[in-house]
Amino acid sequence: MNTIPKIHAAHKHFFRSQITKDVSYRINFLKKLKAEIESKEQAIYDALYEDFKKPEFESHLSEFALVISELDLAIKNTKKWSKPERVRSSILTFPSSDYIYKDPYGIVLIIAPWNYPFVLAMAPLIMAIAAGNTVVLKPSELTQNTSLLLTEIIENVFPKDLAISVEGGVDVSTELLAQHWDYIFFTGSVKVGKIVAAAAAKHLTPVTLELGGKSPCIIDDSIDLKLVAKRLVWGKFLNAGQTCIAPDYVLIKSNIKEKFIGLLKSEIISFYGNDPKTSPDFARIINASNFERLNKMLQDVNVVFGGAIDSENLYIAPTLIDEPTLESKVMQEEIFGPILPILSYGTIEDLKAVIWNYDKPLALYTFSKDTAFKAKILRTFCFGGGAVNDTLIHFGNQKLPFGGVGSSGIGQYHGKFGFDTFTHNKALVKRGTWFDPNFRYAPYKNKLKLLKTVFKYFS
Ligand code: NAD
Repeated sequence: MNTIPKIHAAHKHFFRSQITKDVSYRINFLKKLKAEIESKEQAIYDALYEDFKKPEFESHLSEFALVISELDLAIKNTKKWSKPERVRSSILTFPSSDYIYKDPYGIVLIIAPWNYPFVLAMAPLIMAIAAGNTVVLKPSELTQNTSLLLTEIIENVFPKDLAISVEGGVDVSTELLAQHWDYIFFTGSVKVGKIVAAAAAKHLTPVTLELGGKSPCIIDDSIDLKLVAKRLVWGKFLNAGQTCIAPDYVLIKSNIKEKFIGLLKSEIISFYGNDPKTSPDFARIINASNFERLNKMLQDVNVVFGGAIDSENLYIAPTLIDEPTLESKVMQEEIFGPILPILSYGTIEDLKAVIWNYDKPLALYTFSKDTAFKAKILRTFCFGGGAVNDTLIHFGNQKLPFGGVGSSGIGQYHGKFGFDTFTHNKALVKRGTWFDPNFRYAPYKNKLKLLKTVFKYFS
């Protein structure tokens, strides 16, 4: 037997031993994981820098700190969240005590992407362990330094039958997906999400799919544009635009577009200087194929700022594109890089024509001071999550569920939503034996009227 089926069988065996049902067993490992991660803080920043020159500040903000707060929350609440929840019983079950038992699914497969390679692997792993599952993690092959470190951290903390990191590319992922898991949690592209869903369907395995899409940013003319420009430049160019919830393109009221482009230019310069290539605060494109993909988006469009590239260093400058057509490459697929198309609109109908041209987005951002306009946008468009008057920040609140809708994803996580994702709600009625009226049992003659009355008054 080769390694992957062996690991799969070992996890199944280990889960069935019932060891993970012990809540304090789980919490001990979460504490150990926290200590290990804290002891490797600098190594994590170094690995992310080696992988794509991710600035330490961004690594702390968007990876390390999020993982630690997810761990703190899980350590504090796992005991409470795991307890059976008592619910009111029904007249139909009387006499009874009714509960929702919190069952772990069992053996979980987590497949992670490269763009936030630490947090997008660790956050689901933490909640899967907190909920009492075993975990096989497949980190991304594109961030070799971070993936190696993830493997080392997991090896140092967990017995390998409880959690293990299996490194590799598509072949390893494919072999993992061929196994029968109890739950699959996937973060990555829509294209691969469909492959994962098809593999899961073979075994009817439940899935969470955290995918992508084209996330719009709508700006009307009622708001201070300088603040908008600052918040948009931050959300778009963090991680060099390689963020699943980055604003993909801007839709701005036509009368303020020119002024806004000017403000975007000055904010980009104030963030990264006149030559962002020399800025220590601007990351690189992950690999040559993504660089080429992005480079093609710069052809045959009106670049009004940036546009500089350096293939050797996988550098693409923060770039603004004015009024690309919907047929242009940059408007045909998720950008996932430091290129920002700016389109103007006049009416809500114009917004619908663009946004409904795509599948439901993972995120949507609206900048406006006009209450009626904001309400209309939020009511009209369906999207995974988002923010009013800012970008990205909904990712940081553990009290908010994070996930897509339609082709931007299935399911949600973060905080307790993550724990719930990896938990089966087992419904249980504990029936009393001291009272057993005969009316539900055959023969039914003369009982229907009574049954109807019971339903009418008590259900
Ligand atoms: P990807 O889909 O190429 O890869 C993700 C994972 O799937 C990797 O571990 C990879 O090894 C594996 N994989 C790749 N091809 C596979 C195949 N044919 N069969 C089985 N497994 C395969 O995605 P990526 O390039 O790493 O990440 C970028 C995409 O992820 C973007 O579309 C982005 O929007 C999305 N994303 C979404 C979220 C979210 O939370 N919704 C977060 C980050 C990234």
